[in-house]
Amino acid sequence: MQTIPRHLPQNKNVALVAHDHCKQTLVEWCIKNRTLLAQHKLYGTGTTGNLIEQKSGLQVNSLLSGPMGGDQQLGAMIAEGRIDLLIFFWDPMNAVPHDPDVKALLRISTVWNIPVAMNPATADFLISSPHFNQEIAIDIPDYADYLAQRLK
Ligand code: PGA
Repeated sequence: MQTIPRHLPQNKNVALVAHDHCKQTLVEWCIKNRTLLAQHKLYGTGTTGNLIEQKSGLQVNSLLSGPMGGDQQLGAMIAEGRIDLLIFFWDPMNAVPHDPDVKALLRISTVWNIPVAMNPATADFLISSPHFNQEIAIDIPDYADYLAQRLK
């Protein structure tokens, strides 16, 4: 697929999501990285976002709860270029009712090539990268070219 550059801004739109058994870990990670995270616009699925806001004092724009459509809302925002980076601590040990939504969120993140952390070690790598606080270009699908190919 042809790609075009997309510029992730210095102040990024960061999405935060954690499954129930992983919420404590994400909340602690947010508290630890509070100062850095405060420089960005934060979004979260309903329960995760509200919990982070309560426990860390960070301002989080909370969407619907994940199983109620929040994962899909985030997926749509990613496809529209409105989310720049995703921290998603999904639970590898327990099934969730909205597994198709989880898969869809991870898939669309890969389609649009945004940086994604699925565990604390990767989240630490991302947040300690100079790109976290700088504008950076990523390659995204050239949608106009994609459409033109499909219409041939
Ligand atoms: P929640 O959703 O933050 O509302 O618990 C998490 C998820 O998307 O699974």
